[in-house]
Amino acid sequence: MLCTYSASIGNWIWNNPMVYQHLDVDGESIDLPVGKVVCVGRNYVAHARELGNAVPAKPVLFMKPATALVGLDEPLQLPTHGQELHHEVELAVLLDARLCQANEAEVGGAIAGYGVALDFTLRDLQARLKADGQPWELAKAFDGSCPLSAFAHVEDVPEVADCALQLWVNGKLQQDGNTRDMIVKMPALLAHISQFFTLEPGDVVLTGTPAGVGPLQGGEELILGLGDTLRFPARMACAE
Ligand code: ZN
Repeated sequence: MLCTYSASIGNWIWNNPMVYQHLDVDGESIDLPVGKVVCVGRNYVAHARELGNAVPAKPVLFMKPATALVGLDEPLQLPTHGQELHHEVELAVLLDARLCQANEAEVGGAIAGYGVALDFTLRDLQARLKADGQPWELAKAFDGSCPLSAFAHVEDVPEVADCALQLWVNGKLQQDGNTRDMIVKMPALLAHISQFFTLEPGDVVLTGTPAGVGPLQGGEELILGLGDTLRFPARMACAE
């Protein structure tokens, strides 16, 4: 059976063996539904350049469905419909209020917390889709394509607009960015997104990846880092 009905959530849920729920850094579940993920591409100049892309005049937006979300407790699965799975470490923003055609001043009051996500991308498949003028979902929105850490409360990350965003792969610092280098900063980015896509409680916004993206292999050990203290270990499942 692919779906089961959850009385506590009041809806049908995907029968992921590890059903995803938003967690706080103490391991407690956060009382919010699991919604969509709105993502921005090319929001750091150095990353746009490393892929040979122009720096866009407006944010490049795309989405992942709730079924893309997985926690970091279980090994992260390698998809089988592409060859080159890239990591993109990103600051993740959890919403706890509705933002519809919001202005920047309204954004702060709608943020529940900050975490770290991996915007998993099948880079070879994405290149083929781009070349064919097709949408990116098969390369970016598949089941399990958005591993997500626990969330720290807003007041516990006061430096969020100027803090390290890092990914270690097997102990090697592979991505070493800082949130201050975002092209479109967070309040403006969320306000912009809400002009087109209403953000609802339980939705997550991924704010773009700094430079250093690259391929992942089965069995690799990861550490996602935000600021000086938040560290979230994860592990790639062994390839079949
Ligand atoms: Zn990304």
